[in-house]
Amino acid sequence: MLLLQDCTLYDGSGEPPRMGNLLIRDGHIAAVGLVEIPTGAEVLALRGLAVAPGFIDLHSHSDIQSLEGDMAKAQQGVTTELVGNCGFSAFPNAGCAAEVGAYNLGILSATRTFASARDFLAAAKSDQASAHLESLVGHGTLRTAVRTRYPEADRNKLIELEAALLEQAFSEGAAGFSSGLMYAPGASAPREELEALCAATARHGKLYATHMRSYSWQLLESIDEQVTLARTAGCRLQISHLQAVGKANWHKQPEAIARIEAAQDEGIDIGFDAYPYCAGCTVLEQLVPQQALEYGFAPFARQLADRAYCRSIEQALREQTAQAWTDIYIAFHGPLSSGRDVAGQTIAQIAETWAQEPEAVVIDLLLESAGHVNILSFNQSEPNLRAALTHPLASVITDGIHLGDHSHPRLYGTFPHLLGELCRQHRWMPLETAIRKITALPASRLGLADRGRLAVGCRADLVVFDSAAIGSASSYESPRHSPTGIRHLYRAGRQIDLTVQHMD
Ligand SMILES: [Zn+2]
Repeated sequence: MLLLQDCTLYDGSGEPPRMGNLLIRDGHIAAVGLVEIPTGAEVLALRGLAVAPGFIDLHSHSDIQSLEGDMAKAQQGVTTELVGNCGFSAFPNAGCAAEVGAYNLGILSATRTFASARDFLAAAKSDQASAHLESLVGHGTLRTAVRTRYPEADRNKLIELEAALLEQAFSEGAAGFSSGLMYAPGASAPREELEALCAATARHGKLYATHMRSYSWQLLESIDEQVTLARTAGCRLQISHLQAVGKANWHKQPEAIARIEAAQDEGIDIGFDAYPYCAGCTVLEQLVPQQALEYGFAPFARQLADRAYCRSIEQALREQTAQAWTDIYIAFHGPLSSGRDVAGQTIAQIAETWAQEPEAVVIDLLLESAGHVNILSFNQSEPNLRAALTHPLASVITDGIHLGDHSHPRLYGTFPHLLGELCRQHRWMPLETAIRKITALPASRLGLADRGRLAVGCRADLVVFDSAAIGSASSYESPRHSPTGIRHLYRAGRQIDLTVQHMD
């Protein structure tokens, strides 16, 4: 028994905090509020420090890293992560581990895969894992696995095989299904395929999360596509990392949110999420028309030897890239065949140095690194960011990709940045409102009844922090720092050692 004494209790509901004690017994919250000290209880005097439910990251790409004990999330106060987002999950590999691993690499920064949800979730329960992990089944992973394993299968057969694997994953404990419609090979899936998979998701009462087809020129059409899909299939819908990408599209975000609200009014179970930064982080390949990457990077690279084809890709890059070339930074690249190093530079800067058009630079970087390039991209406006984050339907997420010293600062600092810089310093919303967005709200999206609240009977997943000091120490220039102000973290009543160094 452990009594946390004299704390400021943020219960996750969004209500203002109250002073009190909290009693942990057998890994659960046994009492909260005006609690006497039971005989035999250890007492930890916190003298006004804040206590909140352990944070829940509803959109993480730490599938492998958190499973293997990386502390980037735990040091931010995270106790539960939803992985398997944007169409990328560590399972099922259908016996095609190499192909599935190669597909996952750019977003998961790892090639380790598992045969099934059962295997992944069993590994995630080991003592080594640095958070409780729930996982979606990634559509692109599922599609890559099935198409590799059954190359002769026709379109209907593939849908049938994918649906069977998806249902098996649900019966083994997968939390839902995710699509990544801006990434090959998910992008080319026919509508019937997505309908069938979403219908299976609905039958199991699971969550469908989508990295939509477009967040830029086709933002509104993409919202409509997903709402129609949820309506037809009857599934619960989560629009991932909502934003309007590129200055020419910024004006669309209010309408995008209005369409989400209209879907909710109509009775669709819908939510969305956002990370608290103006810059995104993804693979450079995402700028290329995805049909070009349908069968992987190698065939695309071979085709680029054809001058006319290469010019058509350059033209597509010129016409379709919504961000300015001055706003896209190379975060990380594999060794370039020319031996050059351009990490930290914008595409525009590289174009100047190399005396090439920016579109040709993109192609050269991809060719020279065999497609292994990650970018930081300053996508959105601050007023839009604020409107998305403060909306009642919005959960706040990290969306962090593990790129070591080249990571986006959100990997190491999202939640402290939200509570410190955005709430305390800039007053975008009250602290209790922000805490709801990283506790009770994501717990309810995931259907986790025993997490995300300070209530008797809930798991004692708890974060203790100093609300006057909490903040991120990570920046775009120097991202890899532990946050400030997080004092203690408990998972199922067990204290987690936060002094462990970053491992990746
Ligand atoms: Zn995504």
